Order: sequence, then C-alpha cells, then structure tokens
Amino acid sequence: MEAVTAASGARRDEIQQGLAEVRAAVQRCQKSDARLVAVSKYKPAADILAAYEAGQRHFGENYVQELCDKAAQLPTDIQWHFIGRLQSNKCKALAAIPNLWAVETVESADKAQRLGSAWHAAGHARPLGVFLQVNTSGEENKGGVPAAEAAAVAREIVDSCPGLCLRGLMTIGSVDGSEQRPNPDFVALARLRDEIGRATGAELELSMGMSGDFEHALELGATNVRVGSSVFGAR
Ligand SMILES: *Cc1c(COP(=O)(O)O)cnc(C)c1O
Repeated sequence: MEAVTAASGARRDEIQQGLAEVRAAVQRCQKSDARLVAVSKYKPAADILAAYEAGQRHFGENYVQELCDKAAQLPTDIQWHFIGRLQSNKCKALAAIPNLWAVETVESADKAQRLGSAWHAAGHARPLGVFLQVNTSGEENKGGVPAAEAAAVAREIVDSCPGLCLRGLMTIGSVDGSEQRPNPDFVALARLRDEIGRATGAELELSMGMSGDFEHALELGATNVRVGSSVFGAR
C-alpha cells in the first residue's frame, strides 16, 4: 500500500465536523441504523482517510479508475460502494477490488450477469452485494431500469446470478422531485420495494437520499443514504 499524505489539521477537522453533523442527523431520524455512505468522488485519498480516522467505513465512488486507485492506497477494511454509471467493459476492473462492498447501479439483467461472472472469475469467496437502480423519474437520460421492469430484473438477479447478492433498490431521482415533499421518486422506490419483496420473499433495502434530502429519504424508509458534499464540502 502506498502511503497517503495526511490532510492538514484544519481540513481534517472540517471533514470530521461535517461527518459528525451528518451522523447526528441520521441518528435523529427513526431509522438510526441506516447506513451512511460517504461519497468521496473527486476528493483526494487524504480526505477519505480523515473520515476513516473518525470511524467511517462505507465510501462511495462514481468512476472506476478513481475507485481502483483509491482502493489500492487506502485501508483494506474500507467498504467501497460503486455508485457511478455501470459500463459492461468496466465490470472486470471493479471485480478486481477485494473490498468492493456493493455496486449500487446495476440496471439490467445483462449487466448483472457480466458483473456476477467477473466477480466469480476473480475468485472472491463471498457474493458481491448489488442494488438494482430504478429510473423512478422516467427521465430519458437517466440510468436505471424502468420501474415497470424492475421486478423481472430483480427476479433474474436473485435466480440466476450466483455471484451476486441483491441487497436492495436504488434511485437517484429527478431534480424536480427532490424539491417536492413527499419526494415522488422516494415514494415510488419504497412502493416498488414492497411489491418486489412480496413477490420474491426477499427483504430489500432502499438506497435513496443525498446531501440535500437524506433526512427526508430516511423518513420514507431509506436504509442507505449517499452523502457527499455535506461531509466533504462542495465539489
Ligand atoms: C455524487 C453523488 C451523491 C452525493 O451527492 P451530494 O449531493 O454531494 O451528497 C450521491 N449519489 C450519487 C449517485 C452521486 O453521484
């Protein structure tokens, strides 16, 4: 492991303060056992280490190369989440990360198959956690499976991707939706989770909520919130 240059004392204080505030806010919500994923895209490894020193273990990254580079330099008990657009030709690189905890952006049965095969080929003992990303807002340029197809894809992941463990559903949601209360994307994802849970018997998590709306997401049942700028500052 290469040594990571430590953040300055002031920067470390700033990050640890941001983290403490977000944690306290998560704890105030009913679902205090929800998982906080600290989203560290574009932030240097030293920033991640500062949050790590304050006990944070789950981190999220959007770019495969950036994630690979950081994972190689940082402590191996970090639990990485890939939250960027999943490209089929990047599955192998992702699968090579031993402490990859979850890929939150699986959006088709085909990509699930590729990811599962790559994970299996890399020889890991445990299955890889995945979230099925759902395009709850129906926006054309947004990633995620259409809501109407989510149940079928979830079923396929459970039934025919032995290398993967389906943990839950994930949405990014629209900008418009994030200004509404209740947020219609969060409501739609929670409803879908209930439906799919009834159909498959699986207990599924909900990954939804970012810096601007994670508290609201927790009120609507989020079990996994992805918070970047409130922890690390603006990008
Ligand atoms: C960047 C990002 C986040 C974090 O966003 P913030 O507004 O900085 O909290 C969460 N989820 C995804 C998918 C992201 O790309």
